[in-house]
Amino acid sequence: MKIDVMGVAFDDLTMDQAVRQGLDLAGAEGFRYVVTPNPELVMMARRDPAYARTLAGAGMTLADGVGVVYAARILGRPLRGRVPGVDFAQGLMEGLARTGRSLFLLGAKPSVAERAAENLRRQHPGLVIAGVHDGYFQEDAPVVEAVRASGADVLFVCLGAPKQEDWMARNGPATGAHLAVGLGGSLDVFAGAVKRAPEGWQKLGLEWLYRLIREPSRLGRMIRLPGFLVQALWARMRGK
Ligand code: UDP
Repeated sequence: MKIDVMGVAFDDLTMDQAVRQGLDLAGAEGFRYVVTPNPELVMMARRDPAYARTLAGAGMTLADGVGVVYAARILGRPLRGRVPGVDFAQGLMEGLARTGRSLFLLGAKPSVAERAAENLRRQHPGLVIAGVHDGYFQEDAPVVEAVRASGADVLFVCLGAPKQEDWMARNGPATGAHLAVGLGGSLDVFAGAVKRAPEGWQKLGLEWLYRLIREPSRLGRMIRLPGFLVQALWARMRGK
């Protein structure tokens, strides 16, 4: 089931359901991509119809942040919970390791994806990482070819938003992968370059605050969250 949150249709899935569906898509014919919009991206889609279409074209749309979950509740259409991209990716990799399907890591600064691959192979014994590529390239074609040549079933695209969503929609089918997942700064986390909030903070829904304390430059982006919730309240009052 889809739940509309300020114009973006989110899949109403628990983490386990999302991972199971992702694994099914990884083994299915054709190509699908997964997006994990936070409030900032929902707002971006409201301003930019082309980006809204790219999000709408996704095979799965997961609620990455507590902001989206709060907004859904305010709108009177609660979501089952949030499905942070980085946790979804971990669940998916567990399944890939089990089923023998392979993964390609694309994005982040040079050498980060390699370090991430080393750590992930250790964390998920049996995981096949068919290739990696940094996210600072000029032309798409050689990168598409590298993914295609690797034969990877699943592709993690970590170029930041909106670049990664546009990249997946435009280039995904030509990569030969069955599933691509847009995961923002996740490779930095997997490589150990960026630390996630301690579990207690995550459970309280305060991961955004932890991230803000560590990277104060994100304030300019996060300051939009209260505005997003006010807009949701406004939409509810107008009966939308
Ligand atoms: N990045 C990249 N290529 C670019 C721009 C960014 O590979 O041209 C990477 C960057 O190194 C970082 C990730 O994309 O690893 C973006 O992280 P951020 O936390 O900003 O993601 P977001 O919050 O946008 O999901």
